[in-house]
Amino acid sequence: MSRKREAKRRKTKMLRNKKLVKRYPWIAIVDWHRNNVKDYSYTMYDDVPNGWKRAFGKIMLEEYREVLIRNHYLNDFQWIEVKEKYGTLRLYSNDAPGEVLRLESKYDYISGFFCLSCGRINSPVLTDGWVEPLCEDCYNKRTVKQRRWHEENCKGTFTYTPYKDFKKEEQKIEMFATYKCYSPEQGNYEEKRDYSQTIKKIIARQHKLFKQKSTL
Ligand SMILES: [Zn+2]
Repeated sequence: MSRKREAKRRKTKMLRNKKLVKRYPWIAIVDWHRNNVKDYSYTMYDDVPNGWKRAFGKIMLEEYREVLIRNHYLNDFQWIEVKEKYGTLRLYSNDAPGEVLRLESKYDYISGFFCLSCGRINSPVLTDGWVEPLCEDCYNKRTVKQRRWHEENCKGTFTYTPYKDFKKEEQKIEMFATYKCYSPEQGNYEEKRDYSQTIKKIIARQHKLFKQKSTL
């Protein structure tokens, strides 16, 4: 890419991030004193894997915004760390009202059913090595890249496991998630949380994202 084009690309990204931070202030990059550093080249939202951004990124951000406004916490909330771990989305923030914090476990649960590369629902979770939900297409695309890299950098033949032989768990998203809880009054108990409203919204988007093949 030429320097001019690279500069233009960076500028577009900064403008887009500035808009995002205005609407979703908790994704801004902050310093130790939680002051917005006003560097828009990057936001905490960049750490959400692309497939998950495609599948439910905006739905998640909008839900956070709505819950934060309801709790009068929009300008006090801050994402501290965002990452993928064992195949699900982990969101870490400062302390916040319970309704806000419960969104962390909600999207931790939901994310685990979507290919983290393209966002397809009910993608099997690969369990050999990295644990990650990854669909067959994305696995094959990755293998092609690995093969190209191997041919340029290594001697010997390139070997790989075909998707059908790869160790994985099939998945089907449930509208309710069950959590094991404990309280001194009740002891151990199970709590069911209804995520159907959000999941239905996400499924409606799937039809737009994957027009040719329906996976449902
Ligand atoms: Zn995929």
